[in-house]
Amino acid sequence: MSKKFSLPRGTSDILPFEMPSWQFIESKARDILKFYNYKEFRTPVFEETGLFKRSLGQTSDVVNKQLLELASDKEDTLSLRPEGTAAIVRSYIENSLDRKEAISKLFYIGPMFRGERPQKGRLRQFHQIGVEALGVATSSPYLDSEVMALSVNILKSFGLNNFQLKINTLGAPEDKEEFSKQLRSELKSSVDELCADCQQRFERNVFRILDCKNRGCKRVVAGLSIGDSYLSAESKVYYEDVKKALRSLNVDFVEDSNLVRGLDYYTHTVFEISDSSLGSQDALGAGGRYNNLVSQLGGAEVDAVGFALGMERILLAMPKEQILAEDTLDIYIVNMDEQAFMEGFRLLNVFRGESLSADMSYKISSMKSQMRAANKSKAKYVVILGEEELKNGEATVKNMASSEQERIPLQMVGKALKERLNSIN
Ligand code: AMP
Repeated sequence: MSKKFSLPRGTSDILPFEMPSWQFIESKARDILKFYNYKEFRTPVFEETGLFKRSLGQTSDVVNKQLLELASDKEDTLSLRPEGTAAIVRSYIENSLDRKEAISKLFYIGPMFRGERPQKGRLRQFHQIGVEALGVATSSPYLDSEVMALSVNILKSFGLNNFQLKINTLGAPEDKEEFSKQLRSELKSSVDELCADCQQRFERNVFRILDCKNRGCKRVVAGLSIGDSYLSAESKVYYEDVKKALRSLNVDFVEDSNLVRGLDYYTHTVFEISDSSLGSQDALGAGGRYNNLVSQLGGAEVDAVGFALGMERILLAMPKEQILAEDTLDIYIVNMDEQAFMEGFRLLNVFRGESLSADMSYKISSMKSQMRAANKSKAKYVVILGEEELKNGEATVKNMASSEQERIPLQMVGKALKERLNSIN
């Protein structure tokens, strides 16, 4: 017996009957992104491993534990992309976009890959809708708040309304440095109480201790008293302006001083959107400002802000009535005999030529079984061709919603159905 292959762990097939809900969220997102003047951007699904190491930080979990490397060919190892920002920045620099436009408002939709331990809402291949706004001297609380409002409005357009936007600021790079110093000095006496991961993070990526889910770590973090003393006066004003701008857009948010994000590149505004209905993997999306990444990767001094939303988690959280029924079909043709089949085959082409979707069975079976197939395909009209119809040069046309039937001359049936379908579509 030959081996049966199965789906790789942590991936999923998107079956044809699931596609309408994917198409729904993609097209809604595209509509809203257009209102905000964002343009689509596509990069390869793999890049040089070094790009991810340099941009995301050697100590981030994504680089440390989850990069899926493709080949270890000398220095230039390639890895599947774990997120979208690094590649956009690589391409932004390579194509000198900073010299071509004052601000590049970009978005992407596509698969990302992380070698994680799979569980509900956590996959090895998942999909994101992501947004990046990059440009020289574009750091503005208004842009930060607009980007957050955009992410909220995209989620609302899917019918989601149980989510919460959490925001925080890390301050400018110098503030961030001060923040990590203060954190280390406060945490020093409690290192033993931290989980094994966080004991390592203490040296390498101390911020991550703040959002660790471990109970012991949470207890230690709850006892910290850092406040916002690490922020410069300028950074404080920036953050106040972000909040003011969010309020002016009527965007609800809560402040969360433990929100730090796992990646090195964030500075100033960071945010996360969570939905408690999702259980332990409750983040629908996240983002923030990253003013130094472009220069870190060899480009100019360019400011940037962005976010990514997880599409699988959006689908898990979406209200069921929002998930569309399978695509419908305009016309199904039922052929009663061989001669009818030939006429049906010709009509199929006529209907498609009229931009109507049409199908039929390619073998002649009973009327009952063909009607069953018509129902299954959710056809709006059924065209029945039998001996009697062909003798009169006509087709019987049945409206499946009202069950009304009429006879229409064969040479007029294409145009007639086009008219009827236009009036109901
Ligand atoms: P991140 O880049 O980790 O902030 O991810 C942004 C969003 O992508 C998250 O909020 C999730 O919705 C989604 N996401 C991240 N990792 C995974 C994963 N392994 N499986 C499914 N969705 C994910």
